[in-house]
Amino acid sequence: MAERIVVLGAGESGAGAAVLAKVKGFDTFVSDMSDIKDTYKQQLDQYGIAWEEGKHTEELILNATEVIKSPGIPNDAPIIRKLEEQGIPIISEIEFAGRYTHAKMVCITGSNGKTTTTSLIYHIFKSAGLNVGLAGNIGKSLALQVAEEDYDYYVIELSSFQLDNMYNFRANIAVLMNITPDHLDRYDHCMQNYIDAKFRITRNQTDEDAFIFWSDDPIITEQLDRHGIHAHLYPFSAMKKEGVIAYVEDEEVVITKPTDFNMEQEKLALTGTHNLYNSLAAGISANLAGIRKESIRKALSDFKGVEHRLEKVARVRGIDFINDSKATNVNSCWYALQSMPTRTVLILGGKDKGNDYTEIADLVREKCSGLVYLGADNSKLHAFFDPMGLPVADVKSMKAAVEAAYGMAQKGETVLLSPCCASFDLFESYEDRGRQFKKYVKEL
Ligand code: ADP
Repeated sequence: MAERIVVLGAGESGAGAAVLAKVKGFDTFVSDMSDIKDTYKQQLDQYGIAWEEGKHTEELILNATEVIKSPGIPNDAPIIRKLEEQGIPIISEIEFAGRYTHAKMVCITGSNGKTTTTSLIYHIFKSAGLNVGLAGNIGKSLALQVAEEDYDYYVIELSSFQLDNMYNFRANIAVLMNITPDHLDRYDHCMQNYIDAKFRITRNQTDEDAFIFWSDDPIITEQLDRHGIHAHLYPFSAMKKEGVIAYVEDEEVVITKPTDFNMEQEKLALTGTHNLYNSLAAGISANLAGIRKESIRKALSDFKGVEHRLEKVARVRGIDFINDSKATNVNSCWYALQSMPTRTVLILGGKDKGNDYTEIADLVREKCSGLVYLGADNSKLHAFFDPMGLPVADVKSMKAAVEAAYGMAQKGETVLLSPCCASFDLFESYEDRGRQFKKYVKEL
């Protein structure tokens, strides 16, 4: 009998993994505790893959040779515990897909900047004419593309949850943007566990591979030696200093390895300090792939940005509205606030993942003219920010949040949605939250 692969969770990643398993001849079964979206049901049916929804039937799962777990399922879910007790290997979709392709893998992780950097690298590779696929948390799953396409390169965004269940996967180019506390609720509230998950991106790398990282990140630099990295190191920084191979000097972006590259900083499409890091990481990756300097310069300057990341929405009576709904942790809100050119009314709140707001306290005092708390439970926000004495509003819907912020902001100021929190208390997703924001701003 064929080996049995059971896929837990049938979102983009799970459905794709199931298709690849089926195509590769495994006895394949998909089980999801929640409802499966119609598009994924159709995809599974089209490939003749058995599935169930709303339950995990143990007899159909515990007989697996190997289990592919979707990143959304926590390690302490009862079915995961049972599989572990029985010694059944649990891997991620990326690990599985990696077995069936010889494409070069460019992998991006970090607490913030993953999607932006991944999209930017993909844009540069694609514009340069490389045969490249975009995968991970963005768009189509890696597994589905491995099943249906034949790319030379994949640019893959990896969350810590995907990295958790990766063992033999090897990244030819690994990028680690930064490490700040996030998702600690899924790591036993232990920062070291989360750090270790991020560093897994360097696992299995050899001296033929590259590890690109932000060298001013205190955690990354402090922990570099602990992880036995074999890849060549490509540290970058905003400023020239010893040991870094890419930086800005005299308003020029400079990359010194593997070949010399430079361009005017002003020509970069993405603005703000955090985006400079994203552009540097992307530039180094493209340089490593041997893309011509002229192509890299052009692509770094004509990139259009990504929705919900510091996205300009509209100017209404002299007030700018910016959608940064993807800022689901405190650090990304810090970067957003820091890059605001004017005084700002900040809309924040949502599902808190163990946030410590101390990190943004000084910036809020310095930059904010008002705060709008948007969450099912705003008590933690009241306790932390109310003592600052700023005008505050407490709302439970995006419509009310936009109206309250509009009422608070003066002409020449900015309203910034940069929530520091996940969206699931009041919205379907951060995309839903961002789209509602844009809708109500346009109705003002
Ligand atoms: P991720 O995919 O890691 O969540 P995104 O590219 O979607 O990252 O950006 C999420 C938010 O993080 C953005 O809204 C932006 O404000 C902030 N951000 C983007 N790049 C960086 C960076 N390099 N460092 C810190 N914050 C960043």
